[in-house]
Amino acid sequence: MVTNAGLKDIPGKPLPETDIPALELVSVSYSYGKRQALDDVTFSIAPGTCAVLLGLNGAGKTTLFSLISHLYATRHGHIHVFGHDIDRRPGNALRHLGIVFQARTLDLDLSIYQNLSYHASLHGIGKRDADRRIHEFMQSIDMSDRLHEKTRSLSGGQIRRVEIIRALIHRPSLLLLDEATVGLDIKSRATILADIRKLVQEKNISVLWATHLIDEVAYADQIIVLNQGRLVANGPVGEVVKDAGAQTINEAFSRLTGVLALDTGRQL
Ligand code: ATP
Repeated sequence: MVTNAGLKDIPGKPLPETDIPALELVSVSYSYGKRQALDDVTFSIAPGTCAVLLGLNGAGKTTLFSLISHLYATRHGHIHVFGHDIDRRPGNALRHLGIVFQARTLDLDLSIYQNLSYHASLHGIGKRDADRRIHEFMQSIDMSDRLHEKTRSLSGGQIRRVEIIRALIHRPSLLLLDEATVGLDIKSRATILADIRKLVQEKNISVLWATHLIDEVAYADQIIVLNQGRLVANGPVGEVVKDAGAQTINEAFSRLTGVLALDTGRQL
């Protein structure tokens, strides 16, 4: 991986977008008081890659997302989004980011259209352009007929799919999803994962998908495993399995985290 992080911020030294990682973390550490949540984490994601961030509860996934999305300031290390330092150039970096947080954030008393158009206007997108994008996205997930319904009439899985669309309205090039499928049934999870895979392929979006559900790695080009705040594996699934001396990703995850992973029956 060529490391061009930061260079795009130097006037007169632009680099082709293709040479710049979608996301790059260099030696990132973070503590809540004395509790260290992240310890010297370094990895990068190439443009157009679907990366899964795998870790048990408390591994540091949400903390990492809070740093990437600039909710917290990076005190140790550097984070670059398409070459823009999130702390030095937050506006430039955040323009590239779409985020779906763990907690639900749609207003249930507004219609889906109202939720989406409100978000579009926050990003300075004009009504005509916003309407076109909203219709296009709702069509792509086969939910156009629900557009003017109250959001509370949707199922949990459908709400999640609308939240993903909302995160994409301003056309980000990197989508962060924090445990986006938690609490959903197998069918809804599969639909969301297929939506994401389609987006990566059709729109060349990079994705960082945080999960503790090991079967979700089947959709990933790259997996990043965090354990107690430390990066313990990073690479394509096959490579991570091989490097851990395992036969399956379940077995690899179990070895890397020191716990018994649930057997999903999937042989990877
Ligand atoms: P989960 O899958 O349960 O959401 P996670 O991988 O997202 O977990 P984090 O929420 O980032 O993990 O937590 C990492 C560590 O930091 C944990 O030990 C957690 O207790 C601690 N932590 C997280 N938020 C805070 C906070 N606001 N104050 C103190 N400690 C925190």
